[in-house]
Amino acid sequence: MINRRQFLEWLAASSAGVAITGASTAYAQPAPPKARVIVVGGGMAGATAAKFLRIWGTQLDITLIERSPQYTSCILSNLVVTGQRTLDQLQFNYAALRDKYSIRVVQGDVAALDPVAKTLKLADGTAMTADRIVLAPGVEFDAIPGLESPAAQQRVPHAWKAGAQTLSLRDRLRAMPAGGVFVLTIPKAPYRCPPGPYERACIIADYLKKNKRGSKLIVLDANPDIVAERVTFNNAFNSTHAGVLEYHRNVHVQEIDATAGTLRTSIGNMQAQLINAIPAHRAGEIIAAAGLNNIDARWAGVDVLTYESTAVPGIHVIGDSSATTQPKAGHIANQQAKVCADAITRLLQGQSVDQAPVTNSACYSTVTMSTASWLTAVFAYDPATRSMKVVQASAGEGERATAEHFKDMDKWFRSLMVDTFA
Ligand SMILES: Cc1cc2nc3c(=O)[nH]c(=O)nc-3n(C[C@H](O)[C@H](O)[C@H](O)COP(=O)(O)OP(=O)(O)OC[C@H]3O[C@@H](n4cnc5c(N)ncnc54)[C@H](O)[C@@H]3O)c2cc1C
Repeated sequence: MINRRQFLEWLAASSAGVAITGASTAYAQPAPPKARVIVVGGGMAGATAAKFLRIWGTQLDITLIERSPQYTSCILSNLVVTGQRTLDQLQFNYAALRDKYSIRVVQGDVAALDPVAKTLKLADGTAMTADRIVLAPGVEFDAIPGLESPAAQQRVPHAWKAGAQTLSLRDRLRAMPAGGVFVLTIPKAPYRCPPGPYERACIIADYLKKNKRGSKLIVLDANPDIVAERVTFNNAFNSTHAGVLEYHRNVHVQEIDATAGTLRTSIGNMQAQLINAIPAHRAGEIIAAAGLNNIDARWAGVDVLTYESTAVPGIHVIGDSSATTQPKAGHIANQQAKVCADAITRLLQGQSVDQAPVTNSACYSTVTMSTASWLTAVFAYDPATRSMKVVQASAGEGERATAEHFKDMDKWFRSLMVDTFA
């Protein structure tokens, strides 16, 4: 799609071409400028979008802006906490996107965005403009009362964005005395990776059994019940980890004192040797800053046929920042990115978009340090509600956690990451 200014630039370029090359090429016309798409955030959603925009939209000028030189996957990061993986085994760079898919990869922090003008500014002052912008900035966290300062957040890590906090939780777990109390707090949904906190509870309970005899894990869940894989985790909590893991529903954490290691909660005060508090989530900072957080003032509303923002046309929001009926998960982020890339490619050619998109989500959850279960669902577009609905026959969870599923988890992870970054 060409705007008036680009059209004038193109016209100027054509006339210049004629003047330079003379009569023999007087009738040769330069190709029209490529439509420009900027993708913000090179995580599960953004990296996939950039790659598939190139595969399906060869005539596009694509820029991917990411603040970090490499991506660190949250998926499998619970295994870093237990020392079964290293963080660098979960890191992926942008070389293939740059070299194989000719995407302009810019390392920078998007500090301001004018969604109507489709312009943005990086923290270093660089300004950019595009025909369409795809936002995939992941999530931000609310501060838990008592944990407002960086020092307090270091003492009570959430480890819900893989990186320094994951290593901090690993080191604190290693240093925890045998016979100690570990408290894990789970925020109200929606949060990223619905089974993730329960998976973390299971693997930590198993770690405590094996490495810290006599220790206890108390799980304080703000939700009325286990949010995902209810059968699997009920079994795990009541049977596999009985005696080590204590699960409480509907608990509101009112305040945490990071120095004293105490929690004030709706079921009373408690003391812990180690606290892992996962805060409530909201869309990545740039979504609110640009006024795109039109769902509960926290998430970006989107049309799931295109992932175009319902607040401002021409801006697309994918991955955890978007509000849809699908889970906030890396696998779904990858799927949403493909629907969005396909829609943008068609829209830029003046075509209509696919009216029946289908996405799927698969996920493995560790139940012990060597066994895993799984969860899967297919979502199809429902024109009546204009939302993605679970195809009932497709939804399921593993009957048992097994060592074989644990091995399959690695295969699933590797193929998802190849599809996203390679
Ligand atoms: C412990 C844990 C386990 C999980 N396990 C699974 C699992 O088994 N399966 C699964 O499917 N999902 C899992 N998830 C969820 C998954 O990690 C997220 O849903 C997924 O990463 C979301 O992708 P995203 O692209 O929206 O966000 P992210 O992957 O977080 O990517 C966002 C990117 O945007 C960049 N960014 C943000 N703002 C800016 C800015 N202003 N300028 C430049 N760059 C910016 C960030 O640096 C980041 O790289 C897990 C999550 C956790 C925490």
